[in-house]
Amino acid sequence: MHLRTLTLRGFKSFASATTLHLEPGITCVVGPNGSGKSNVVDALAWVMGEQGAKTLRGGAMSDVIFAGTASRPPLGRAEVSLTIDNADGALPIDYAEVTISRTLFSGGGSEYAINGTACRLLDIQDLLSDSGLGREMHVIVGQGQLDAVLRATPEERRGFIEEAAGILKHRKRKDKALRK
Ligand code: ATP
Ligand code: MG
Repeated sequence: MHLRTLTLRGFKSFASATTLHLEPGITCVVGPNGSGKSNVVDALAWVMGEQGAKTLRGGAMSDVIFAGTASRPPLGRAEVSLTIDNADGALPIDYAEVTISRTLFSGGGSEYAINGTACRLLDIQDLLSDSGLGREMHVIVGQGQLDAVLRATPEERRGFIEEAAGILKHRKRKDKALRK
């Protein structure tokens, strides 16, 4: 499984539709301060179901919608689509390619879709939850979080890795069973 494309439209500083093509392996995003590198990572977290405005570095969820600049008026919606190569079937869905999309309207409504079919946020979270992707996962290490990982005790660091690997929930289940 790997990420193929990420399309942002009206998301934070990306007013015009912008598509990033990703190859298997490592992708680096480079650019001057304030050019939108972290906004790309925010878009990834957002389309995968992130619900915390703070995690997205905003005060309210509507802060993800392009707020306008001196030369460009604000937009009424933010849209992000992520296309994932699922040829290896890592995602529990019968498609070799899966596109998840999320739209937020300035009036407050939201829309979610999997391969163009409207769905609930929960469906996207469910689809990703066993893949090591998705919300509240340490798969995305934010700019300030690197310090926390470096300063962590060996036990805490093991927790981060287990969570990212998707085995923390099994450990919790095991601990619960042993307590009985
Ligand atoms: P650094 O190298 O400092 O980490 P960066 O490339 O990660 O910078 P970002 O934090 O991604 O930069 O982008 C910040 C820019 O995005 C700021 O100029 C900010 O005004 C703009 N921005 C954030 N939210 C919005 C929004 N809703 N509408 C318009 N612009 C926005
Ligand atoms: Mg940044």
